[in-house]
Amino acid sequence: MTNKDWGWGSIGLWGLVASVGLGCGGCDRLPFFTPSGQVHLLMGNPSEAGTAPDNYLIIQPQYALSYNRDRATANWASWQLNQSWLGSTQRQDDFRPNTRLPIAWYQVDGDDYRGSGYDRGHLVPSGDRTANQTDNSATFLMTNIIPQTPDNNREPWRELEEYCRSLVDQGKELYIIAGIAGVHGEQVKLADNQVTVPASVWKVVIVLDQPGLGIDGVMANTRVIAVNMPNDEQVDDDWRSYRVSVDSLEATTGYDFLSVISTDIQAVIEARIDP
Ligand code: MN
Ligand code: MN
Repeated sequence: MTNKDWGWGSIGLWGLVASVGLGCGGCDRLPFFTPSGQVHLLMGNPSEAGTAPDNYLIIQPQYALSYNRDRATANWASWQLNQSWLGSTQRQDDFRPNTRLPIAWYQVDGDDYRGSGYDRGHLVPSGDRTANQTDNSATFLMTNIIPQTPDNNREPWRELEEYCRSLVDQGKELYIIAGIAGVHGEQVKLADNQVTVPASVWKVVIVLDQPGLGIDGVMANTRVIAVNMPNDEQVDDDWRSYRVSVDSLEATTGYDFLSVISTDIQAVIEARIDP
């Protein structure tokens, strides 16, 4: 097992190092970078994740997520995306267990999906964390990985990831929450019955016009893209086929997205399906 991850004790130091520009060639990272990782929960904590084993909060410098011990995957991951996170770092491909999990829990290994027919699908994409090797490597922790059908992972899911980065290339700042719902088919489980395969994968993307606006940037006309894609083979290649309202995802998951935003604004933007 490699240990390139930042331990809690070293976050402060790394924050300092990152603040002076490590791996951030020419980009202005300072205003947006918080070493605590709290920035990734700016739009709220949709399941009120904390210390419960089925809703266990892990905050890293690169993203936040709710882990579910009983499924041995995350319930969701949440992250900020703007130009400061993007660079030229190659995929590290170092799939490995996350040492932040309680030691008594099943530790999903990089090989656990082997031979299952499912991809090791990223919640936070590798391509969203390319400013430096440490950030990219953090996306290969198995707590950020879900069993995803190849057709889903490599077509509509990937295309939405690329579309999100194209918005960032236009200067936008995104807050993205991606997660799983349901149980696939007949309770399909991998890795000696440890890992639950989800029935669908969903995503909520809040699109802000420019970096640094914070929650005040979320208004009734703010674009929010939400999708819910079946974790099946033979899915439609076009992610747009799977657009839904945030309200419908809230009904599916039982979560409250955008919980920090006023209920008046939530009522408008959560009912709208991205046109
Ligand atoms: Mn993927
Ligand atoms: Mn909501």
